[in-house]
Amino acid sequence: MKEETDKRKAAGTAADPREKYMRAALKQAEKALALGEVPIGCVIVSGDRIVGRGYNRRNTSKTTLAHAELIAIDKASRKLGDWRLEGCTMYVTLEPCQMCSGSLVQSRIDRVVIGTMNPKAGCAGSILNILEMPEWNHQVEVETGVLQAECQEILQQFFRQLRQRLKKEKALRRAEAAGAADTPAPAAATPAAAEGAAPGTKE
Ligand SMILES: [Zn+2]
Repeated sequence: MKEETDKRKAAGTAADPREKYMRAALKQAEKALALGEVPIGCVIVSGDRIVGRGYNRRNTSKTTLAHAELIAIDKASRKLGDWRLEGCTMYVTLEPCQMCSGSLVQSRIDRVVIGTMNPKAGCAGSILNILEMPEWNHQVEVETGVLQAECQEILQQFFRQLRQRLKKEKALRRAEAAGAADTPAPAAATPAAAEGAAPGTKE
């Protein structure tokens, strides 16, 4: 019984190219994760071939333009020798932001397949739907929820680790401050106490 389910699952995965390409996008997200970047990845597919790959490297490259989608659009355009990405599909692990959604409309790409939505910044349906505005001269077909659990998990893993690291750093700073307090520093104690009292007096 279980074997049968596994077989069906395997067959389902092989039959669904969307999952295959979303896994390739997840692989890109893992590259971002390895650099300590927010793990977002994408690929652009033309026919049955990947013509562009990208992962978030905003901190590494020190530019807001280094979003996964923009990197992949640039690579696909170079590969195809055309700024128009007609006939192409992007597979991206997280819903694109306003900048990337705008670029996707400009690139005239056919379709964007999204892993998980971004309610705080997404512009493919969450805050705005830049991709499917009827007023533009081009609309990008949006599909959501492909490998959603995996795409969500890699982000949650990143933010969990980030919180743990910040907590550790905070504890370390506290320990250092406590160590400094052991040595007599009467002048420092007064402003700190006054600062602590300030919000109370305002209320
Ligand atoms: Zn973006």
